[in-house]
Amino acid sequence: MQLTERVYLVGSGKAGFNSSNPYDCHVYLLDGGAELALVDCGAGLDLPAILGNTRAAGFDPRRIRHLVLTHKHSDHAGGAAELQAAFGVQTYATQHTAQVVSTADEKRLGLPMARRGGVYPPDYRFRAAEVHNVIKDGDRVMVGDLDLLVVETPGHCDGHCSFAFTHEDITHLFAGDAVLFGGQIILQDIPDCSVSSHMRSIERLAELKPDVFLPGHLQIILRDGWSPIEAAMARIRLGLSPVMGA
Ligand SMILES: [Zn+2]
Repeated sequence: MQLTERVYLVGSGKAGFNSSNPYDCHVYLLDGGAELALVDCGAGLDLPAILGNTRAAGFDPRRIRHLVLTHKHSDHAGGAAELQAAFGVQTYATQHTAQVVSTADEKRLGLPMARRGGVYPPDYRFRAAEVHNVIKDGDRVMVGDLDLLVVETPGHCDGHCSFAFTHEDITHLFAGDAVLFGGQIILQDIPDCSVSSHMRSIERLAELKPDVFLPGHLQIILRDGWSPIEAAMARIRLGLSPVMGA
């Protein structure tokens, strides 16, 4: 599904459009011209569905050269190992995400609790994946002729980051789970979920004033993409937490 000139939605689970496995986050395909990238890769339970959507959008999945991860959670990073085995994609993540993803550290992934709570199937396992490029705030990831800015946005969990790029004066933001439609956030009872860092991260995203808002779940906004961030900021300015969602 084409969203903008350079961005396609090739995966999405039940907290979205259900176009791939129900446990998947939104999986975005970025068309950098000479090469392609994925932003997040879903839970790894149905890679063929994501590849099928990529082909339906007119792209050969063998051209996917890069995978950038917003964070470690299984619905975003669980498919990395299979994607690497299939296409040798270069994978980018922050230091914390790299450590957890490369060791499949279930405790730091929050997986035992998530499985117990039915967030994932009882037999779900996270497959360890390599991270080839450790990224930090202010870094740039080149995808063909596009230039992705890394914005570290912890709060939803440690190591969370967002990505922004501007093409023909249109600023796109891949927000991951930092903020969702209507300014909602996802607060979880896990040791590394922090309300106050969440809010500082949303303040940073507000400075970017994106036109296109591409979150990890729920609705996508193709015009006035700053509006969900502004909705969260309206509460943050009052000293309140944004509303809990998803
Ligand atoms: Zn998450």
